[in-house]
Order: sequence, then structure tokens, then C-alpha cells
Amino acid sequence: MRCRKCRERAVLEIPRHHTAFCKTCLTDFVCAQAERAITEEKMFAKADHVLVAVSGGKDSLSLLDILHKLGYQADAFYVDLGIGEYSRQSRAKVEQFTKARGVALHIHELKEDEGAGINELADLVHRPTCSVCGTLKRYHFNRTAVELGYHVLATGHNLDDEASRLLGNVLHWQTEYLDKQGPVLPASMEGFAKKVKPLFRLAEREIAAYAIVNRIDYIVEECPNSKGAKMLLYKDILNRLESESPGTKQAFYWGFLAKQEADAKTRPSMTDNDQAVLHPCPTCGQPTTAETCSYCKLMARAKKDGPAPVRM
Ligand code: SF4
Ligand code: ZN
Repeated sequence: MRCRKCRERAVLEIPRHHTAFCKTCLTDFVCAQAERAITEEKMFAKADHVLVAVSGGKDSLSLLDILHKLGYQADAFYVDLGIGEYSRQSRAKVEQFTKARGVALHIHELKEDEGAGINELADLVHRPTCSVCGTLKRYHFNRTAVELGYHVLATGHNLDDEASRLLGNVLHWQTEYLDKQGPVLPASMEGFAKKVKPLFRLAEREIAAYAIVNRIDYIVEECPNSKGAKMLLYKDILNRLESESPGTKQAFYWGFLAKQEADAKTRPSMTDNDQAVLHPCPTCGQPTTAETCSYCKLMARAKKDGPAPVRM
């Protein structure tokens, strides 16, 4: 198989675009897709400071790599969840990557700052680990971006992540989450960072191939808590559809975004609604729609119920 652009040996076929690329043209394609997402969706500009939430996996480390190649100012933020060997290895990958490229790295360590790792915290509050993890990560991503003065927080979510999440939300008719499924969430009030997903145009296998040809050393193992997760099932189902009918994932997610955009012109925007109900949490000052934010509620419960030395 030959590269459709330069006729060198191809390393990846992309059936949804009826094309195939060599190492160099694949890197160009991935960077061009990310640049297109950033400019068309008005995510950020070259003068902005971007904080990238990194996990040590291929998507977030590739995102950091791509942003630097494109000339953006991007630093890294890692949340150490305290999940034994998995966290040790993923943190080591992040530290090696950022040190080798001279990228600033901020770390939040749950065991240090909350007094316990994610599994212990979930046990203390009797809630599913991934749900507690989601609450804590969202909170620290936002808080760190705002407190350190970054213009925007970027995550490595790709087309597969977004299409599988959309499938899950549609299957359960969780329509209240659909407004948050876009690649840009604006900073709707003070204390609320703008959040963007510059890889939403790229499939997981395209980013994996980018990471390999660009020699990005990432953690291959998934988080041990992801075993049996519904999202993996939805990804598998979408991959089967994609192999039978290339372009299905893209049509599903991009079609949804186009419909959302058309609908937004005829109804009040989320930003207006958010501004009406969001207010600072009385305990920590972070924006919330409830009386107390979900992070402070969770930590108060962990402190009350648990033997662990939970700090706030
Ligand atoms: Fe957090 Fe791991 Fe669950 Fe992902 S799989 S939400 S990293 S605990
Ligand atoms: Zn709070």
C-alpha cells in the first residue's frame, strides 16, 4: 500500500477518507485536523496559554506534542489518582515526556491533597469509583486552569470517545448531557475555564498511529478501574459498524454537532442558562449550580464517614 500523497510506503489506511498515508503525511494529516478543529471552533489562539490535562496515555501526550508542533503555548496538568502501579507508570511517562521537551508540568496528588487515593475515596463515600474520579478530575482541571491563569483547558478526547459517549447518552436518553457534548464549552462565568477538545476530528487509531510514528512513549495499559466499562462496549460496537461502513462514527458525531448548531440558533444558549443558575460554592468558591459544589459535598462525606485522614 502506497501513500496517496507522496507514494512512499503507507503506514495507515484511513477508509473513511478513502486514503492512506506514510509516516510524514500521517503526521501532517493529524496536525492539520487538529489545527482545523482549533481554528474553525475558535478554541484558542497562538497568544493564549493552554493547559493540557494529561493521563500518560496516547491521546493526551499526542495532543501536547501536536500543539507544540503547531506553535501553541501548552503546559501539562496531571492528576495522580494513587492507583498503585498504574499511577506510578503513567506519572513516570508524563514526567519523562514533559522533561524531554521542556514542557511545564503541574501535578495534583490525591493522596497528598485529599488524603487518600481514588479507590479509597470511592469506598468512603460508597459511590462508583469512576463517578468519584470524574467529579474530582473535573473539579481539579477547572480549578487549576483558573487559579494558574490559563486561558483554556484542553483534553485529549478523540472522535471515538465522543461518538461512544453520545451513543451512551442517546441509548439512555440522557438528553440533559447532550449540550455538554460539543468540542468547546465556553467559560460561562468567572471561575469557569473554557474547555476544548482539539482531537475531536481524529479517530483513536489515527492518534495511536501518530503516537507510534512520532515515538511518543505512552502507557499502553488502561486504568484497571475501566474493566467492564460500558464506554468500552460502545466503542467496540461503533468499531464494528465502522469496519462494515467506514465513516459511520464521523457521520454520527459530526451530524449531531451540526444539528446542535442549527438548534442553537432557535433557542436560548447554554451560556445564558448557565449564567442564570451558576454561583460560587460557599466552601471553595468554584462555580456550581447546587448549594454546595459536588466536590465539597463528596469531600465532606468522605471526612464524616471515613477513617482516612481526608483533608479539605
Ligand atoms: Fe478514573 Fe480510571 Fe475510572 Fe477512568 S477508568 S474514570 S481514570 S478510575
Ligand atoms: Zn466547593
